[in-house]
Formats: sequence, C-alpha cells, structure tokens
Amino acid sequence: MKNSQITHWCHEIIRSQAKNRGIYIDATMGKGYDTAFLCELAGDEGKVYAFDIQEKALELTKKRLEEQKMAERASLILDGHEHMEQYVEPESVDVICFNFGYLPGGDHRIATCPDTSIAAIEQGLRLLKPGGMMSLCIYSGGDTGFEEKEKILDYLKQIPAKEYTVILNQYFNRQNDPPVPVFIFKG
Ligand code: SAH
Repeated sequence: MKNSQITHWCHEIIRSQAKNRGIYIDATMGKGYDTAFLCELAGDEGKVYAFDIQEKALELTKKRLEEQKMAERASLILDGHEHMEQYVEPESVDVICFNFGYLPGGDHRIATCPDTSIAAIEQGLRLLKPGGMMSLCIYSGGDTGFEEKEKILDYLKQIPAKEYTVILNQYFNRQNDPPVPVFIFKG
C-alpha cells in the first residue's frame, strides 16, 4: 500500500477538510514539506503562517517555496510555536499542523519539548475556527520523544469532548515505536 506513510496519510485527511483559501498554520516548519502542502491548499487567496526556532528551517523552507512559486502565500516566523497566539487572530484558522521531534538530518538536541508543545496545542485549539482541524504527528524512538509522547497524550485525553473531537490513530501491527497521528476537530 503506497499511502501508508504518516505524512501522506495526514495530508489526505487534511485535504478532505480544507478549501482553497483560508488561514493555515505549520507549527513545526522543519524542511518545509508541510508548509508547501498548506500553501498549495491555501491557494492565492489563502495565507500560511509557519513557525520554527531554527534559522536553518526557515532557509530550507524559503527555498522550497520559491522553487514552487508559492513564497508570497506564507509568513515564515522565527519563533516558538508556544507564541503563535501573538501572530494570529482567535477562531480564524482552518488547519494547524504539528510534526513533533527534531529536524531530520539536523541537530537532534533541538527538538520540540513537552511543555512548549502542550502550550502550543492549547493555543492552537483557541485559534481554530469552528469546523477547523489540527493534525499532530507524535514521534518517539531511540532515546527521544517518549516523555513528550506520554505528556501530549495525557493532555489530549482531557480536552473537553463537547467542543472538540480528538481522534488517535495507531499503527497497530508495526514494531519499534511507530509515530502516532492524531486529528482534532473543533465542533
Ligand atoms: N520528526 C519529524 C520532523 C519534526 S521537525 C519527521 O521526522 O518528519 C520538528 C521541527 O520543530 C524542527 O525543525 C525544530 O527546530 C522545530 N521546533 C522545535 N521546537 C520548536 C518550537 N518551540 N516552536 C517551533 N518549532 C520548534
């Protein structure tokens, strides 16, 4: 099955919800794959805000967007996602994407942290418009990510069910700490 890769699967779910305009957030820019995907969904009338704390991520993403002639659709912000409420209006966002962990091929020590990740998810919930969704990919493996995974899952469990639907997916038969994709839909 060619579509079993986590990013592909998350993109398909997001695509099924999104429309060709609106406001999108990539909370963990990394190499900019998700930023580029969200720019595609946003179209000429939409807007993408992308966050990362590493200059390197902004450089890689800027280059990618320029190559794809979509740079004007995105604001690339060198700041932690735990500050995203300072940049975007409440209840205005269609889709927010998180890919936790470290930049593949980069410094493994510059990874997302439980406290700031949870603060960012909490803000993200407020920023979503009714009908909006959040996609989260939680990674663990080797010696990293386990504490973050536990803490994020504990947090997700107590999100009020009246306002949000939280759907946790599982690679049920895969060994060695597969990533955990989660989708949150706002009422
Ligand atoms: N593990 C994923 C990629 C994660 S990239 C995969 O394999 O596909 C995670 C990105 O989050 C990194 O580029 C890192 O610099 C960034 N990051 C870490 N802490 C952050 C924070 N507080 N706010 C925004 N981005 C952060």
